[in-house]
Amino acid sequence: MELSTMLEYQKLDIALMRLENELRQSQAAKEYTANKTTLTNAQEQVLKQNRDAGEMTTQMESLIAEYDAIEKELKEAEGAVPDVDNAVAADFFVRNVQKLVNRLKVLASEISKMSAKIVELNQSYAATMTAGKEAKKKLALCKEAYEAEKSKFMPQATELQKKIAEAEQGCSEEFLTVYKRLRKLKKIPVIVPLVGTNCGGCFMEVAGDILVTLGAKPFVECPSCGRILYKD
Ligand SMILES: [Zn+2]
Repeated sequence: MELSTMLEYQKLDIALMRLENELRQSQAAKEYTANKTTLTNAQEQVLKQNRDAGEMTTQMESLIAEYDAIEKELKEAEGAVPDVDNAVAADFFVRNVQKLVNRLKVLASEISKMSAKIVELNQSYAATMTAGKEAKKKLALCKEAYEAEKSKFMPQATELQKKIAEAEQGCSEEFLTVYKRLRKLKKIPVIVPLVGTNCGGCFMEVAGDILVTLGAKPFVECPSCGRILYKD
């Protein structure tokens, strides 16, 4: 595989990247992306709030069930007042009633706290829904401008994509694997010249034995940054 083929492939790839970047930087694309992010966040928030609401309802139900049970127990206890002469039974009665009354107080306070939390959650749920609807409306409005902006870039992008696909035909599998991996890591340019005995990408000194193989192998990778090196 020729060096010129690799460099040509890189040239086309960078041109496409620049074009995509230009589109991303346009006002229409920025607005579109921002609204899309807002909408996604609102959707995630709604899901989370739904989960929280489910959990709170379950907790509330179990609090109410316990409250009802204790209330019933208290009524039953109060209905069976022991003989005042029986000091032990009277003492037990008083302590038992007191214990039940205390537990009811605690439960009542927990129920009231939980109900305040549920009200709060309902309010923020409503606010999230409004924000989500607003973002959806805005997204629909700016979609047209974004599509129009995109269509300006499309002919050139399609042309480049076609050329890149053609250029790939002339590239080795090994090269493409290395190239695409580095591209993903944003190590652009991927193919760099040697500058003296240093890598033209990361500027680290390249060891002599690697310099020797340069030219003998189709391509060598910089031991420091992994870029593909060539002799200028
Ligand atoms: Zn390097």
